[in-house]
Amino acid sequence: VKPKSILSTILLVCCMAIRLCLCSSSVVSSLNALHVQGNFSFDGNEFAANDFGNQFHFLPSAVLHPKKVSDIAATIKHVWQMGPASGLTVAARGHGHSLQGQAQAPQGIVINMESLSGQEMQVHRGKFPYVDVPAGELWINILHECLKYGLAPKSWTDYLHLTVGGTLSNAGISGQAFRHGPQISNVHQLEVVTGKGEVVVCSEEKNADLFHAVLGGLGQFGIITRARISLEPAPKMVKWIRVLYSDFSTFARDQEHLISAENTFDYIEGLVIVNKTGLINNWRASFNPEDPEQASQFVSDGRTLFCLELTKNFNPDEATKIDKEMKSLLSQLSYIPSTLFVTEVSYVEFLDRVHAAELKLRSKGLWDLPHPWLNLLVPRSKIHSFAEGVFGNILTDTNNGPVLVYPVNKSKWDNRTSFVTPDEDIFYLVAFLPHAVPSNTENNGLQHLLSINKRILNFCEAAHLGVKQYLPYHTTQEEWRAHYGPRWEVFVQRKSAYDPLAILAPGQRIFQKAI
Ligand code: FAD
Repeated sequence: VKPKSILSTILLVCCMAIRLCLCSSSVVSSLNALHVQGNFSFDGNEFAANDFGNQFHFLPSAVLHPKKVSDIAATIKHVWQMGPASGLTVAARGHGHSLQGQAQAPQGIVINMESLSGQEMQVHRGKFPYVDVPAGELWINILHECLKYGLAPKSWTDYLHLTVGGTLSNAGISGQAFRHGPQISNVHQLEVVTGKGEVVVCSEEKNADLFHAVLGGLGQFGIITRARISLEPAPKMVKWIRVLYSDFSTFARDQEHLISAENTFDYIEGLVIVNKTGLINNWRASFNPEDPEQASQFVSDGRTLFCLELTKNFNPDEATKIDKEMKSLLSQLSYIPSTLFVTEVSYVEFLDRVHAAELKLRSKGLWDLPHPWLNLLVPRSKIHSFAEGVFGNILTDTNNGPVLVYPVNKSKWDNRTSFVTPDEDIFYLVAFLPHAVPSNTENNGLQHLLSINKRILNFCEAAHLGVKQYLPYHTTQEEWRAHYGPRWEVFVQRKSAYDPLAILAPGQRIFQKAI
């Protein structure tokens, strides 16, 4: 290395550091001059450079803790008026449960949406009940509020400690989606602050293009500040059922039968189990085998199994009727007979089930680890090729975290939203949800788990399976273009209409602010 080039490298680094310092000191003074009812923090913002994925860490220059929607509007308007030269970007942060820094804003401004969650939630009863909520509210709090009126949202995620704005920017999918569609299909109205700092109320009837753009829009078109969510009468109890299959085709056939039937279960999901022993012994802690003697003879011995997970909602006075209905539905299925396990829990206990798992993992220090998750939407016509190539082949075990697989009906999705699905009537959500153990580089180290994800994606591409990523992570605009396919043009048009300077949600890495 020549001394001259060392010198010029040092100079370059110094210049960049000075530029950064100047840039962040001018950000501090310009934001301090803004009139907001909440406040900006410029230090101690490490939380905003972290997320559940725990792989990307970009510090912002400032975090806004808004008290009012007008604080968000004033901040974005300010950045908009500074023009492209400022290079400043803004990211809404819900509960920070993104996987690859999607709620981060390197050197920009992060808006801590949970500061708005203290605002009132308003439940409206009547024939078509709904609740108006601040977008920084957690779904678990919305559930508790609605239950006071005997009501609850219709469509969920498996985990409720996520914000409304965070899941509506993606989709919000769980075992109710086959019937009600994802959470983005169960919203009547939104209040949004666009990338120009305008506050706009939108719905199917009013500013419909913005409404559809924002739903599943990965935070690209505006910051959701309030949402009106559709409700239904809440059941008190849930029958929670698990059965096993050793053959993927039979498992998938039964799942598809159940999601297409008129009279069916209320929640339908599935799990893939690879190379796990003692499986049924673990279940026994919370599930009762229908036939204990037969169940005790079932040996999982490490083979690949498929677990169908179902629930039926009921109120205590309907217990006998529900038992009958459940038996009739189960009689239509072809699971391994000795593997019928049933339990009965409250509706809240069922919906908040992953939080119970979170508490256990936290106590073992297994929650705040890197999470190299991969979520895919696989067209029905390709799910068998996918299963053959991936389960028990690329995937050698599921001991680091669950692998979910379940079908949904495309008819319940609205293709005017920004969300793209595979182009078939039924598609499957397949979710690989491992945690990485830091010191381990073999079976459960981060690099190993990332390489498995890469192999799965490469396999899908080579076999032309038409798979889309859910909670997508792409690093080039070419990949984003391919992700959106024919919908890319609309996505770009909407971006130039609502966030022309590309200020919003830089962590998605779709557009770059022009400097
Ligand atoms: P954040 O991570 O804070 O933000 C996500 C993205 O949305 C960012 O780009 C951010 O800028 C943007 N954003 C946040 N708030 C707003 C807003 N108000 N307006 C506009 N943009 C905004 N998803 C499912 O669909 N089904 C599941 O069953 C499911 N289970 C999960 C379980 C766990 C344990 C975890 C960690 C995640 C799960 N997810 C699931 C994924 C989850 O829905 C998304 O990661 C979601 O974005 C997290 O919400 P958040 O509030 O933490 O959002």
